[in-house]
Amino acid sequence: MAKHLNYSRISGLMHRQIIPGPKIILVSSILVLLAIAGIFLSQKAAMHTAKDVPGWSWILGGVTISIDAGHGGVDPGAVGVNKTLEKDVNLQVSKRLQLLFTQAGSKVVMLREQDQDFGTSLSLLQRKREDLAYRIQTAMESQAKIYLSIHANSFSDQRQHGPQVFYHPESEGGKLLAESIQQSLNKVGTKKREAKANQSYFILKNTDMVAVTIEVGFLSNPEEEKRLNESAYQQQLAMAIFEGVGNYLAKEQPVAAAD
Ligand SMILES: [Zn+2]
Repeated sequence: MAKHLNYSRISGLMHRQIIPGPKIILVSSILVLLAIAGIFLSQKAAMHTAKDVPGWSWILGGVTISIDAGHGGVDPGAVGVNKTLEKDVNLQVSKRLQLLFTQAGSKVVMLREQDQDFGTSLSLLQRKREDLAYRIQTAMESQAKIYLSIHANSFSDQRQHGPQVFYHPESEGGKLLAESIQQSLNKVGTKKREAKANQSYFILKNTDMVAVTIEVGFLSNPEEEKRLNESAYQQQLAMAIFEGVGNYLAKEQPVAAAD
């Protein structure tokens, strides 16, 4: 069943008085909306950001997005064949996402914005536990609707490549979000893959948010490692993730549900 659009979330942009009735009211409402969107976009264009923000992005206005750049500080994550550190790629892609969502009017909660971890213990294992606990707690407190955990993959077989999105098997929303992001990533990634359920992502089980883990590519593949360091490719990945989230939300809250 289609849910009604939550007008309060996008009150700044949405014309509130869409009353079911004569077509003329609906049509003029749409015209008003387009005019507002036009002003909005022309302002964006003046700031040289319009190319980054698709026309439907207003659906993201007011939505809280939690972005977790995996690893950091003492924990480098995976190390690429040519020594790229996963924590750096994760943060670079996450910051691009932060900008895209912020431009679209979302409230973005970044779990880290620099090279750091959130553990204090000397034991690395204990420190990792503290770090994860902090991230989960902060994400929960953010009351985000969407939680994006950004990682990069590594595998013994260097031939493996391509971005892949994971969700917890018990989360229907997570599955839909993961499939939506995967679909967008498949347009820009080095290989088409399928979103996959995975129990082992600790962080996804401990949250009520619609949560996914995005592995942006394989640092164990030399070609992909090189691309993951390129700002243009990082931006393409961020745009695809952004688009995937937008498409998911658009399906979840159909605007045209004039019933
Ligand atoms: Zn990782």
